[in-house]
Amino acid sequence: MAENKEDIKDLSLAELTARIKSLNEPPYRAEQVFEWIYKKGGRSFGVMTDLPAKLRDYLTNKFFVTGSEIIKKQVSKSDGTRKYLFKLSDGEEVEGVYIPAKDPAGGGTGRHTVCLSSQAGCAFGCYFCASGLLGFKRDLRCGEILDQALAIQDDIGVAKGPVGPKGPAGPKRITNVVMMGTGEPLANYDNVVKAIGIMNSPLGLGIGARKITVSTAGYIPGMKRFMQEKEQFELSVSLHAADDIKRSRLMPINKKYPLAELMEFCREYTKGKGRIITFEYILIKDVNSSPTDAQNLAKLLKGLNCKVNLIPFNAVSDFKFRQPSFKDVKIFQEVLEKAGIKSTLRAEKGVDIDAACGQLRLREAKIAQVKHENFS
Ligand code: SAH
Repeated sequence: MAENKEDIKDLSLAELTARIKSLNEPPYRAEQVFEWIYKKGGRSFGVMTDLPAKLRDYLTNKFFVTGSEIIKKQVSKSDGTRKYLFKLSDGEEVEGVYIPAKDPAGGGTGRHTVCLSSQAGCAFGCYFCASGLLGFKRDLRCGEILDQALAIQDDIGVAKGPVGPKGPAGPKRITNVVMMGTGEPLANYDNVVKAIGIMNSPLGLGIGARKITVSTAGYIPGMKRFMQEKEQFELSVSLHAADDIKRSRLMPINKKYPLAELMEFCREYTKGKGRIITFEYILIKDVNSSPTDAQNLAKLLKGLNCKVNLIPFNAVSDFKFRQPSFKDVKIFQEVLEKAGIKSTLRAEKGVDIDAACGQLRLREAKIAQVKHENFS
């Protein structure tokens, strides 16, 4: 990849169409290029044999198709989860995860979820999360977000099947996307929204908007913009505590956007959009997982159109947080249930492969010592 070339995946279909038109080529050529990249697994312009040779040459000189490479891959023996470490063109590293699951409705070809990173490093510094330990490096470009999805799709064998109207007919097509890898997606707004737009587009990856989830630490300015998007993308909010003292000790962002403001906006969002919000709640032993914490959470969420996703803390060796017992997790869930709050318990995935956010990258970076002074 030459340095002066552009990533073709940084362009939306409208942008690529405008470029193609300026070459006096018919606009449908842009659609053909899109189909090649996102549906037929074309990873160079040379393979796009239905384009005129002149256009192929032009594209080859101006653009590149893939810029990131997989430098490490771990496959969970227990559940098939795959974790990838990608190296970007400037040497930065980000993680992506593939999580296979059975179709909840049974039958079908199963659920194939990818978890993607939006930034290299993270500026938000949540005290339980490995992603922020190395600080913030930079935003990912749209094409770098898509690179992760395409590389995972290729790796799970999706792009190799025959091509049907909806894309490769192989049994494994990405069906769900969660922007829950490294970074705060709503702080890299334009690139993330463009990337999920391409994932959603019928000429892109063709994944339904309701199957694409953006997760935020509660970055209200980004949430306000996200509310204006016309597509029905899903929103998750990482809550993790139901009072300001605890939440600020876990998530520094709470000092800037405290719970009252966050919850007020969440209520506005669910009413305005007519959509539910999923609240992510990590359960940490002796920190936020007592029955009283559950009662406070139920109070906080009362009357809100929402669901809680309980996540037993995934141990990160640099932190001394621990997971509560299964019994305590169940008690927590029962308190919520009695109060009429719907919750799901996230099954742990890839426990044998550093599956928590930022862990693989962290280990690779061989951090010798990280001081963690909260809760000491
Ligand atoms: N910045 C966004 C996107 C990251 S999503 C956000 O905060 O939502 C990653 C999810 O995994 C978040 O809910 C995060 O809080 C959670 N997470 C991070 N470290 C974890 C760990 N060690 N165990 C379990 N969940 C973790």
